Amino acid sequence: MTLKEGASIAVIGAGAAGLVTLRVLRDAGYHVIVFEGGNAVGGTWVYEDILAEPDLARVARPSGSCTGLERPTECPVERSMSPPAPSLTPTAGTEPAPLVQSSIYANLRTNLPKQVMQFSDFPFPDQLPSFMDHWAVQRYLVDYAETHHLIRHVRFGTRVQAVEPLSADVWSRYRVTFATASNGGPHSLEFDAVCVCNGHYTTPQIPAEPFVESEKSAEYIPGLTDGTFSPGVVRHSHYYREPTRYQGLRVLCLGSGPSGVDISIDIAQHARTPVYLSGRAVKEMPPDSQAGRYGVVQVPSLRAVIGPRSVLLADGTVLRELDVIMLCTGYRYVFPFLTSQSGVLITHQGRVVEPLYHHLIPVFKWTLPLIGIPFSVAPFPLFEYQAHYIAAVFQGRVKLPGVDAMLAAIAEEKRVQQGFGQQPRHLHRLGDRQWAYNRQLADAAGIKGPSLAIQSVYNDTGTFRKLDPKQYRFREYRVFGDGPEDWEVQIRLS
Ligand code: FAD
Repeated sequence: MTLKEGASIAVIGAGAAGLVTLRVLRDAGYHVIVFEGGNAVGGTWVYEDILAEPDLARVARPSGSCTGLERPTECPVERSMSPPAPSLTPTAGTEPAPLVQSSIYANLRTNLPKQVMQFSDFPFPDQLPSFMDHWAVQRYLVDYAETHHLIRHVRFGTRVQAVEPLSADVWSRYRVTFATASNGGPHSLEFDAVCVCNGHYTTPQIPAEPFVESEKSAEYIPGLTDGTFSPGVVRHSHYYREPTRYQGLRVLCLGSGPSGVDISIDIAQHARTPVYLSGRAVKEMPPDSQAGRYGVVQVPSLRAVIGPRSVLLADGTVLRELDVIMLCTGYRYVFPFLTSQSGVLITHQGRVVEPLYHHLIPVFKWTLPLIGIPFSVAPFPLFEYQAHYIAAVFQGRVKLPGVDAMLAAIAEEKRVQQGFGQQPRHLHRLGDRQWAYNRQLADAAGIKGPSLAIQSVYNDTGTFRKLDPKQYRFREYRVFGDGPEDWEVQIRLS
């Protein structure tokens, strides 16, 4: 089975993933329409200056008739605070659509250099530094869309509400139901395939409910959202915008990933120092790093909120008179428009999507790929490899192995991962495996694979980010070939 030239394909989302998917499939001869809920291309990189950062500590209080559809200023009920999800949750209708798409804050600079972020044939401008402000990335995506005549395929202000398979077949067609800002809805259209590029950094993960028994961990924090911390406030980094809003406050940031490190350093410019950074293992900032000089101290995991503005840490320390707990605890995968007929499940409290072949193609629905699921990767290039692989599947150049073989491949991947000691909820964390993954997709699709120079630059960035979580952005890279030595770095002085 193949999709013939001219077949109709819907793409949901005009962020980086949606744009490159549109381009590759359009160039492969398909008739592509992109549905974009916002009014611009760029997704995450379209900065949204929300004026009020909602207080999650108040969500458990009686809150009247909040539906989750209010603006954050109108209702403190945060959308991810739906009733505790069972460990295996069908996707259908579990979460209302998020209203604040972007998690970008004012001072954000990229944590990957531009050489690692760019699409294969569209470099960032030479005059930009390797580590750019967020505006430069949005401009890049707009330029990409304009240069490749993509805008005419995008229906802005059009939010997809439902994607329903029209048959039980793996090569099903779909009915896509959507509403538009200008013309209401619901309206629907039928497509031969749907590519889901809705982004995965929009619905906060809140550690306020226990994980499944096998994974119960310090990430479950009693008292976090039941009002115990009031009058202190609990926020998620999704809503963080400007450090000036924290002037003179005592802040504890929770989370050991890049956001926890970057935001704690950003806040420390205005908050009362030290800002506490709590995490089981602050991977991005080992204890001997230079972080202390940025006004941040690392403390053990947050065990519980024990009273107004007071918390207990894993080593028994009590921190009192805190004003803010900033949750840098990541995001959940959410597909509010998929019905249970898609056969796609969200498991491990929003952290795993399954069963997906190559983290991309639903085993029971081959014409419904989900782009951009892997994390701890260089996202833009990975999206591009995924898009080419999808095109090759649709054109019949790649033959998928059949449902049983796909399930067996997923089971084998899980087995290997557990052998490495990786938690099941990190199924989609690729890290070092991203290069082999990209190469596998590229080889199958018949395109050039990732360059060793880019891989080396990515690794160099990771090494120096750990040594100094701020100064690594002074590194300026130059890549002049594909080989492992075909790059150089200079240090900018300011
Ligand atoms: P998004 O950019 O989120 O785009 C999804 C689009 O889908 C949005 O435009 C949205 O409006 C639309 N949409 C969603 N649902 C619907 C619907 N139902 N109907 C219609 N439209 C819909 N990556 C890097 O490479 N370098 C970095 O330095 C970096 N820093 C980051 C910092 C932060 C704080 C965050 C949160 C992420 C960062 N990333 C970084 C990752 C970044 O998210 C990815 O690079 C990439 O932009 C994600 O693109 P996407 O297209 O998958 O999703």
